[in-house]
Amino acid sequence: MSNTPQSSASNFIRSIIEVDIASGKHANIITRFPPEPNGYLHIGHAKSICLNFGLAQDYQGRCNLRFDDTNPEKESQEYARSIQDDVHWLGFQWDGEVRWASDYFEQLYRFAIELIEKGLAYVDDLTPEQMREYRGTLTQAGKSSPSRELSVIENLDLFARMRAGEFADGSRVLRAKIDMASSNMNLRDPVIYRIRRAHHIRTGDAWCIYPMYDYTHCISDALEGITHSLCTLEFEDHRPLYDWVLDNLSIDCHPRQYEFSRLELHYTITSKRKLLQLVNDKHVSGWDDPRMPTVSGMRRRGYTPDSIREFAKRIGVSKSNNTVDVGVLEGCVREDLEMKAPRVMAVVNPLKVVVTNFIEGQTVSRMASYHPQHPEFGERLVPLGKEIWIEADDFSENPPVGWQRLAIGGEVRLRYSYVLRCDYVVKDALGKVVELRCSIDQDTLGKNPIGRKVKGVIHWLAIEHALPAEIRLYDRLFTVPEPDVDKDVDFCTYLNQQSLQVVDGWVEAAVSEAAPETHYQFERIGYFCTDRYEHQPGKKIILNRTVALKDSWAKE
Ligand code: ATP
Ligand code: MG
Repeated sequence: MSNTPQSSASNFIRSIIEVDIASGKHANIITRFPPEPNGYLHIGHAKSICLNFGLAQDYQGRCNLRFDDTNPEKESQEYARSIQDDVHWLGFQWDGEVRWASDYFEQLYRFAIELIEKGLAYVDDLTPEQMREYRGTLTQAGKSSPSRELSVIENLDLFARMRAGEFADGSRVLRAKIDMASSNMNLRDPVIYRIRRAHHIRTGDAWCIYPMYDYTHCISDALEGITHSLCTLEFEDHRPLYDWVLDNLSIDCHPRQYEFSRLELHYTITSKRKLLQLVNDKHVSGWDDPRMPTVSGMRRRGYTPDSIREFAKRIGVSKSNNTVDVGVLEGCVREDLEMKAPRVMAVVNPLKVVVTNFIEGQTVSRMASYHPQHPEFGERLVPLGKEIWIEADDFSENPPVGWQRLAIGGEVRLRYSYVLRCDYVVKDALGKVVELRCSIDQDTLGKNPIGRKVKGVIHWLAIEHALPAEIRLYDRLFTVPEPDVDKDVDFCTYLNQQSLQVVDGWVEAAVSEAAPETHYQFERIGYFCTDRYEHQPGKKIILNRTVALKDSWAKE
């Protein structure tokens, strides 16, 4: 057994693998992650990646990355590239070269001929409507197509001519000859090849027939010697077909398919088709918009690979419903960044304060460390000035009972600095507070004031030294937990119109030179990350809020 930390707690798949290793059925386990390159990966895929690659790591096995590229119209190299980037970013490396189902097109074709020769496949020319009608229903057996009786010779000839391009798209298919009366609809002579004149991202125009997923997947698994083929529960009913194909072909290897439940996250969607719709309809800026539940969107927002792997570990793997609250995911990234992110001050919603008794050259500024538990992160000067920004929310003209922040006549501690008292407020013509006049207690630097307790601590920035920053605050993308549960309502109806709020805030000078994708904790506010693409060190500061800190006013 490995002595590295396990990728997950025990689960039914691990139990199966351990039995298979103990019994000698498999000396080495081989898993695979088989995405279709028809979109960017989302958090559900991350679960599957962590499972497949994690098992290979924990049991010193291997995990392949195989693209299921059998639907040429929807697939692209851009998607394939992004998927590889995401898998790497999550911290995994596939075994050997990337594999593609299209690498096996010739072999898949020959296996189809083997099925025909065994009388187990036939070319059918029913129209799609007839196909549907002949298929029967859950309560009614299907009907045999007249083509079911074609001879092997006729089928071999027709299938060769399908490949040669003699027939129009959609006019004929190759079907497995299984059982038109099966209670499992997937076994009612499923289509295994169709005619499609579409340019394929890897094989170009070499083929005008393409194998179907169910037929391709099991054979690809077998050709790669996969031991445990893990997929989501909707494929449970396809398993008899997976097994039928392999049982009837001359392939030595017969991987076993095991199904686990899909991850669903509240207030978002995990379907590539629907995510594509959000992109195409411009509800978001792209697949990697920080509000998207895609791996690249989460990355841009400031999620770390460790936090996503930890999330996968926490949600576990089982066959029962796996709908999870985003809070679990947010908890993982908070915990991770709590220890990793340097802490600085930023003001998101500024209110100006004039420190009336600030004396240039006499009032002292202190150094502050970037992390209380990590002295090695270093420290910097936090300069005080005559004018400072505080958070508008940290002042109240009519404070509620128990208010520990600033109020007229009240005091707070300026983080890393003096105790400050608000003496009076300046208002504009409309009566809005636009400035506070405050004074510091010179005797409170690094020590408590004498004779009174000041409980509240607020963050602040000296106006002279603060740098302007574009701060992007994100909220959940949808207003309801399950936006796509009602089939009659377009899920876009539930988009949260306030999911992005851009504010002009201020940050410490220390952030200026930060590289893109640098994480910070803004004290008392949350975790932020410099934007991967638009933040320009030394020029333009753009920060994405990854997640807010837990509400912790009471503790301050
Ligand atoms: P989508 O429905 O989003 O298009 P998919 O299943 O069609 O997803 P694939 O590219 O075929 O997308 O998925 C690759 C692998 O990821 C499959 O093994 C699939 O079972 C797994 N997977 C996809 N979505 C989820 C999910 N929500 N939870 C767990 N695993 C998932
Ligand atoms: Mg799929």
